[in-house]
Amino acid sequence: MKSKFLKSAVLGLSTAALLAGAAATAQAEQKFVTIGTGGQTGVYYVVGQSICKLVNRGQKDHEIKCTAPSTGGSVANLNAIANGEQDMGVAQSDWQYHAYNGTAPDKFPNGANKELRAVFSVHPEPFTVVARKDSGIKTFADLKGKRVNVGNPGSGARGTMEVVMEKLGWSMSDFKLAAELKSAEQAAALCDNKIDAIVFTVGHPSGTIKEATTSCESVIVPVTGPEIDALVNDNAYYAKATVVGGTYDGTAEDVETFGVGATFVSSTKADEETIYQVVKAVFDNFDRFKRLHPAFANLKEENMIKNNLSAPLHPGAERYYKERGWM
Ligand code: GLU
Repeated sequence: MKSKFLKSAVLGLSTAALLAGAAATAQAEQKFVTIGTGGQTGVYYVVGQSICKLVNRGQKDHEIKCTAPSTGGSVANLNAIANGEQDMGVAQSDWQYHAYNGTAPDKFPNGANKELRAVFSVHPEPFTVVARKDSGIKTFADLKGKRVNVGNPGSGARGTMEVVMEKLGWSMSDFKLAAELKSAEQAAALCDNKIDAIVFTVGHPSGTIKEATTSCESVIVPVTGPEIDALVNDNAYYAKATVVGGTYDGTAEDVETFGVGATFVSSTKADEETIYQVVKAVFDNFDRFKRLHPAFANLKEENMIKNNLSAPLHPGAERYYKERGWM
Protein backbone atom coordinates (compact mmCIF):
# COMPACT_ATOMS: atom_id res chain seq x y z
CA MET A 1 0.00 0.00 0.00
CA LYS A 2 2.86 2.35 0.84
CA SER A 3 4.50 1.97 -2.57
CA LYS A 4 1.17 2.51 -4.29
CA PHE A 5 0.70 5.74 -2.33
CA LEU A 6 4.12 7.00 -3.39
CA LYS A 7 3.56 6.17 -7.02
CA SER A 8 0.17 7.92 -7.05
CA ALA A 9 1.67 10.98 -5.39
CA VAL A 10 4.27 11.19 -8.12
CA LEU A 11 1.46 11.11 -10.66
CA GLY A 12 -0.09 14.10 -8.90
CA LEU A 13 -3.51 12.64 -7.99
CA SER A 14 -5.78 14.53 -5.61
CA THR A 15 -5.77 13.60 -1.91
CA ALA A 16 -9.39 12.44 -2.10
CA ALA A 17 -8.62 10.08 -4.97
CA LEU A 18 -5.61 8.80 -3.06
CA LEU A 19 -7.64 8.09 0.07
CA ALA A 20 -10.37 6.37 -1.92
CA GLY A 21 -7.74 4.25 -3.63
CA ALA A 22 -6.12 3.33 -0.33
CA ALA A 23 -9.49 2.37 1.19
CA ALA A 24 -10.34 0.18 -1.78
CA THR A 25 -6.99 -1.57 -1.49
CA ALA A 26 -7.45 -2.14 2.25
CA GLN A 27 -10.89 -3.60 1.63
CA ALA A 28 -9.67 -5.89 -1.10
CA GLU A 29 -7.01 -7.25 1.24
CA GLN A 30 -9.48 -8.02 4.06
CA LYS A 31 -10.35 -11.66 4.12
CA PHE A 32 -13.56 -12.86 5.80
CA VAL A 33 -13.65 -16.42 7.05
CA THR A 34 -16.38 -18.37 8.83
CA ILE A 35 -16.27 -21.23 11.30
CA GLY A 36 -19.39 -23.39 11.62
CA THR A 37 -20.11 -24.33 15.24
CA GLY A 38 -23.23 -25.78 16.93
CA GLY A 39 -25.99 -24.57 19.27
CA GLN A 40 -25.24 -21.55 21.43
CA THR A 41 -25.23 -23.48 24.72
CA GLY A 42 -22.86 -26.18 23.43
CA VAL A 43 -19.07 -26.29 23.45
CA TYR A 44 -18.59 -26.05 19.64
CA TYR A 45 -19.92 -22.52 19.78
CA VAL A 46 -17.20 -21.65 22.29
CA VAL A 47 -14.55 -23.41 20.16
CA GLY A 48 -15.45 -21.28 17.14
CA GLN A 49 -15.83 -18.07 19.12
CA SER A 50 -12.49 -18.66 20.88
CA ILE A 51 -10.57 -19.36 17.68
CA CYS A 52 -12.08 -16.25 16.06
CA LYS A 53 -11.27 -14.13 19.10
CA LEU A 54 -7.58 -15.08 18.82
CA VAL A 55 -7.54 -14.66 15.02
CA ASN A 56 -9.20 -11.26 15.19
CA ARG A 57 -6.67 -9.99 17.74
CA GLY A 58 -4.05 -10.25 15.00
CA GLN A 59 -6.21 -8.72 12.30
CA LYS A 60 -3.94 -5.75 11.71
CA ASP A 61 -1.12 -8.13 10.74
CA HIS A 62 -2.96 -10.62 8.54
CA GLU A 63 -6.23 -8.82 7.62
CA ILE A 64 -8.29 -11.94 8.36
CA LYS A 65 -11.70 -11.30 9.92
CA CYS A 66 -13.20 -14.39 11.49
CA THR A 67 -16.82 -15.08 12.49
CA ALA A 68 -18.27 -18.20 14.11
CA PRO A 69 -22.06 -18.38 13.79
CA SER A 70 -24.28 -20.92 15.54
CA THR A 71 -25.23 -23.85 13.25
CA GLY A 72 -26.98 -27.23 13.35
CA GLY A 73 -23.73 -29.02 14.31
CA SER A 74 -21.21 -31.50 12.83
CA VAL A 75 -23.06 -32.87 9.81
CA ALA A 76 -24.39 -29.45 8.81
CA ASN A 77 -20.85 -28.02 9.12
CA LEU A 78 -19.26 -30.77 7.03
CA ASN A 79 -21.84 -30.31 4.28
CA ALA A 80 -21.44 -26.51 4.38
CA ILE A 81 -17.65 -26.91 4.05
CA ALA A 82 -18.10 -29.28 1.11
CA ASN A 83 -20.43 -26.75 -0.58
CA GLY A 84 -18.04 -23.86 0.01
CA GLU A 85 -20.54 -22.09 2.30
CA GLN A 86 -18.19 -22.25 5.31
CA ASP A 87 -14.39 -22.13 5.35
CA MET A 88 -13.92 -24.12 8.55
CA GLY A 89 -16.01 -25.94 11.10
CA VAL A 90 -16.12 -28.08 14.21
CA ALA A 91 -17.15 -31.71 13.71
CA GLN A 92 -17.22 -34.99 15.60
CA SER A 93 -14.46 -37.46 14.70
CA ASP A 94 -16.99 -40.08 13.51
CA TRP A 95 -18.63 -37.67 11.07
CA GLN A 96 -15.28 -36.31 9.89
CA TYR A 97 -14.39 -39.91 9.00
CA HIS A 98 -17.66 -40.54 7.16
CA ALA A 99 -17.55 -37.22 5.29
CA TYR A 100 -14.03 -37.89 4.01
CA ASN A 101 -14.66 -41.54 3.15
CA GLY A 102 -18.22 -41.26 1.84
CA THR A 103 -19.40 -43.96 4.23
CA ALA A 104 -22.62 -42.25 5.35
CA PRO A 105 -24.52 -41.33 2.17
CA ASP A 106 -27.69 -40.47 4.10
CA LYS A 107 -25.76 -37.66 5.84
CA PHE A 108 -23.51 -36.64 2.95
CA PRO A 109 -25.56 -37.01 -0.24
CA ASN A 110 -22.72 -35.69 -2.42
CA GLY A 111 -20.49 -38.62 -1.50
CA ALA A 112 -16.92 -38.66 -0.23
CA ASN A 113 -15.43 -35.17 0.19
CA LYS A 114 -11.79 -35.75 -0.70
CA GLU A 115 -11.15 -31.99 -0.31
CA LEU A 116 -11.89 -32.19 3.42
CA ARG A 117 -8.83 -31.39 5.56
CA ALA A 118 -8.19 -31.87 9.27
CA VAL A 119 -6.69 -28.94 11.17
CA PHE A 120 -6.55 -30.16 14.77
CA SER A 121 -8.61 -32.07 17.30
CA VAL A 122 -10.14 -30.45 20.32
CA HIS A 123 -11.93 -31.81 23.43
CA PRO A 124 -13.44 -35.29 24.02
CA GLU A 125 -17.21 -35.61 23.61
CA PRO A 126 -18.93 -38.36 25.59
CA PHE A 127 -22.29 -39.61 24.27
CA THR A 128 -24.32 -38.20 27.14
CA VAL A 129 -27.81 -39.20 28.27
CA VAL A 130 -29.54 -37.02 30.87
CA ALA A 131 -32.87 -38.15 32.31
CA ARG A 132 -35.36 -36.54 34.65
CA LYS A 133 -35.01 -38.20 38.04
CA ASP A 134 -38.79 -38.83 38.23
CA SER A 135 -38.72 -40.71 34.89
CA GLY A 136 -37.07 -43.72 36.55
CA ILE A 137 -34.63 -44.07 33.63
CA LYS A 138 -31.45 -45.72 34.94
CA THR A 139 -29.95 -47.35 31.84
CA PHE A 140 -29.95 -46.65 28.12
CA ALA A 141 -32.40 -49.56 27.61
CA ASP A 142 -34.89 -47.72 29.87
CA LEU A 143 -35.28 -45.04 27.17
CA LYS A 144 -37.63 -47.39 25.28
CA GLY A 145 -41.22 -46.18 25.57
CA LYS A 146 -40.13 -42.77 26.89
CA ARG A 147 -40.15 -39.22 25.52
CA VAL A 148 -36.63 -38.64 24.26
CA ASN A 149 -34.91 -35.81 22.44
CA VAL A 150 -32.86 -37.57 19.75
CA GLY A 151 -31.49 -34.24 18.50
CA ASN A 152 -31.88 -32.03 15.46
CA PRO A 153 -31.08 -33.38 12.00
CA GLY A 154 -27.71 -31.88 11.00
CA SER A 155 -26.16 -32.45 14.39
CA GLY A 156 -23.49 -35.06 14.84
CA ALA A 157 -25.17 -35.96 18.12
CA ARG A 158 -28.33 -37.03 16.26
CA GLY A 159 -26.28 -39.06 13.82
CA THR A 160 -24.44 -40.91 16.58
CA MET A 161 -27.74 -41.61 18.35
CA GLU A 162 -29.00 -43.19 15.11
CA VAL A 163 -25.87 -45.38 14.97
CA VAL A 164 -26.48 -46.62 18.53
CA MET A 165 -30.17 -47.24 17.81
CA GLU A 166 -29.33 -49.21 14.69
CA LYS A 167 -26.84 -51.32 16.61
CA LEU A 168 -29.55 -52.09 19.18
CA GLY A 169 -32.16 -52.75 16.49
CA TRP A 170 -34.32 -49.83 17.66
CA SER A 171 -36.39 -47.45 15.56
CA MET A 172 -37.88 -44.04 16.40
CA SER A 173 -41.25 -45.72 17.03
CA ASP A 174 -39.71 -47.47 20.05
CA PHE A 175 -40.02 -44.13 21.86
CA LYS A 176 -43.28 -42.70 23.12
CA LEU A 177 -42.01 -39.46 21.60
CA ALA A 178 -38.88 -38.85 19.55
CA ALA A 179 -38.31 -35.09 19.72
CA GLU A 180 -35.93 -33.35 17.30
CA LEU A 181 -35.17 -30.29 19.39
CA LYS A 182 -32.03 -28.26 18.83
CA SER A 183 -29.36 -28.61 21.50
CA ALA A 184 -30.08 -25.15 22.94
CA GLU A 185 -33.78 -26.01 23.42
CA GLN A 186 -33.51 -29.41 25.06
CA ALA A 187 -32.71 -28.50 28.69
CA ALA A 188 -35.80 -26.31 29.00
CA ALA A 189 -37.96 -29.03 27.41
CA LEU A 190 -36.59 -31.57 29.91
CA CYS A 191 -37.24 -29.35 32.91
CA ASP A 192 -40.70 -28.32 31.64
CA ASN A 193 -41.48 -32.08 31.63
CA LYS A 194 -42.11 -32.13 27.88
CA ILE A 195 -39.53 -34.90 27.51
CA ASP A 196 -38.05 -37.51 29.87
CA ALA A 197 -34.47 -37.55 28.57
CA ILE A 198 -32.00 -35.86 26.29
CA VAL A 199 -29.20 -37.48 24.30
CA PHE A 200 -26.30 -35.19 23.43
CA THR A 201 -22.75 -35.91 22.31
CA VAL A 202 -20.94 -32.96 23.85
CA GLY A 203 -17.83 -31.88 25.77
CA HIS A 204 -17.98 -31.38 29.53
CA PRO A 205 -18.83 -29.28 31.34
CA SER A 206 -21.39 -28.02 28.83
CA GLY A 207 -23.89 -25.21 29.26
CA THR A 208 -26.76 -27.39 28.05
CA ILE A 209 -26.14 -30.18 30.56
CA LYS A 210 -25.52 -27.66 33.36
CA GLU A 211 -28.89 -26.11 32.61
CA ALA A 212 -30.58 -29.53 32.50
CA THR A 213 -29.10 -30.57 35.86
CA THR A 214 -29.61 -27.33 37.77
CA SER A 215 -33.07 -26.25 36.57
CA CYS A 216 -34.66 -29.56 37.66
CA GLU A 217 -33.68 -32.88 39.26
CA SER A 218 -31.98 -35.00 36.62
CA VAL A 219 -29.23 -37.59 36.35
CA ILE A 220 -26.59 -38.73 33.85
CA VAL A 221 -27.37 -42.28 32.64
CA PRO A 222 -24.67 -44.85 31.71
CA VAL A 223 -24.43 -46.16 28.13
CA THR A 224 -22.77 -49.60 28.24
CA GLY A 225 -23.22 -53.17 27.05
CA PRO A 226 -21.99 -55.56 24.36
CA GLU A 227 -23.34 -53.43 21.47
CA ILE A 228 -21.44 -50.39 22.74
CA ASP A 229 -18.30 -52.49 23.21
CA ALA A 230 -18.64 -53.68 19.61
CA LEU A 231 -19.03 -50.11 18.31
CA VAL A 232 -15.86 -49.08 20.15
CA ASN A 233 -13.88 -52.16 19.09
CA ASP A 234 -14.88 -51.91 15.44
CA ASN A 235 -14.38 -48.17 14.87
CA ALA A 236 -11.25 -46.12 15.56
CA TYR A 237 -13.27 -42.92 15.90
CA TYR A 238 -15.13 -44.22 18.99
CA ALA A 239 -13.60 -44.76 22.43
CA LYS A 240 -14.79 -45.55 25.91
CA ALA A 241 -15.56 -42.36 27.84
CA THR A 242 -16.50 -41.24 31.32
CA VAL A 243 -18.54 -38.31 32.55
CA VAL A 244 -16.59 -37.46 35.68
CA GLY A 245 -18.61 -37.60 38.90
CA GLY A 246 -19.40 -34.25 40.45
CA THR A 247 -19.29 -32.36 37.16
CA TYR A 248 -23.05 -31.86 37.41
CA ASP A 249 -25.60 -31.63 40.24
CA GLY A 250 -27.35 -34.97 40.84
CA THR A 251 -24.51 -37.20 39.58
CA ALA A 252 -21.75 -37.65 42.17
CA GLU A 253 -20.22 -40.83 40.70
CA ASP A 254 -18.37 -41.35 37.41
CA VAL A 255 -20.71 -42.47 34.62
CA GLU A 256 -19.48 -44.86 31.91
CA THR A 257 -20.35 -44.29 28.28
CA PHE A 258 -18.53 -44.07 24.96
CA GLY A 259 -17.62 -41.06 22.91
CA VAL A 260 -15.92 -39.27 20.05
CA GLY A 261 -13.50 -36.37 19.75
CA ALA A 262 -14.39 -32.87 18.63
CA THR A 263 -12.23 -31.87 15.67
CA PHE A 264 -11.57 -28.68 13.74
CA VAL A 265 -11.66 -29.09 9.96
CA SER A 266 -11.43 -27.13 6.72
CA SER A 267 -10.92 -27.96 3.07
CA THR A 268 -8.46 -27.55 0.21
CA LYS A 269 -10.72 -24.64 -0.85
CA ALA A 270 -9.22 -22.62 2.05
CA ASP A 271 -5.78 -21.30 1.12
CA GLU A 272 -2.64 -22.33 2.96
CA GLU A 273 -1.84 -18.87 4.34
CA THR A 274 -5.31 -18.42 5.90
CA ILE A 275 -5.27 -21.76 7.71
CA TYR A 276 -1.64 -21.16 8.75
CA GLN A 277 -2.66 -17.85 10.35
CA VAL A 278 -5.68 -19.42 12.09
CA VAL A 279 -3.59 -22.28 13.51
CA LYS A 280 -0.82 -19.86 14.52
CA ALA A 281 -3.34 -17.64 16.34
CA VAL A 282 -4.45 -20.65 18.42
CA PHE A 283 -1.08 -22.25 19.20
CA ASP A 284 0.94 -19.04 19.65
CA ASN A 285 -1.64 -18.18 22.32
CA PHE A 286 -2.36 -21.67 23.56
CA ASP A 287 -2.53 -20.91 27.30
CA ARG A 288 -5.00 -18.16 26.59
CA PHE A 289 -7.03 -20.52 24.37
CA LYS A 290 -7.17 -23.21 27.07
CA ARG A 291 -8.57 -20.70 29.56
CA LEU A 292 -11.53 -19.86 27.31
CA HIS A 293 -13.51 -22.97 28.31
CA PRO A 294 -13.00 -25.59 31.06
CA ALA A 295 -13.41 -28.36 28.42
CA PHE A 296 -10.15 -27.08 26.84
CA ALA A 297 -8.12 -27.13 30.09
CA ASN A 298 -6.48 -30.54 29.50
CA LEU A 299 -5.72 -30.15 25.80
CA LYS A 300 -2.17 -31.06 24.72
CA GLU A 301 -0.63 -29.83 21.48
CA GLU A 302 0.97 -33.18 20.60
CA ASN A 303 -2.40 -34.98 20.82
CA MET A 304 -4.34 -32.28 19.01
CA ILE A 305 -2.26 -32.57 15.86
CA LYS A 306 -2.78 -36.32 15.47
CA ASN A 307 -5.61 -37.83 17.54
CA ASN A 308 -9.06 -38.33 16.01
CA LEU A 309 -8.10 -36.96 12.60
CA SER A 310 -9.04 -39.10 9.62
CA ALA A 311 -8.82 -36.55 6.79
CA PRO A 312 -5.28 -35.46 5.79
CA LEU A 313 -3.89 -32.38 7.55
CA HIS A 314 -4.43 -29.05 5.82
CA PRO A 315 -1.10 -27.82 4.33
CA GLY A 316 -1.40 -24.53 6.27
CA ALA A 317 -1.66 -26.47 9.54
CA GLU A 318 1.19 -28.77 8.55
CA ARG A 319 3.40 -25.76 7.78
CA TYR A 320 2.86 -24.37 11.30
CA TYR A 321 3.35 -27.76 13.03
CA LYS A 322 6.63 -28.28 11.13
CA GLU A 323 7.79 -24.79 11.99
CA ARG A 324 7.23 -25.61 15.66
CA GLY A 325 9.14 -28.89 15.24
CA TRP A 326 6.07 -30.95 16.13
CA MET A 327 6.30 -33.08 13.02
N1 GLU B 1 -21.28 -32.84 18.99
C1 GLU B 1 -22.43 -32.03 18.72
C2 GLU B 1 -22.80 -32.13 17.27
O1 GLU B 1 -22.03 -32.30 16.40
C3 GLU B 1 -22.27 -30.57 19.08
C4 GLU B 1 -21.75 -30.35 20.44
C5 GLU B 1 -21.60 -28.90 20.83
O2 GLU B 1 -22.38 -28.06 20.36
O3 GLU B 1 -20.69 -28.63 21.60
O4 GLU B 1 -23.90 -32.01 16.94
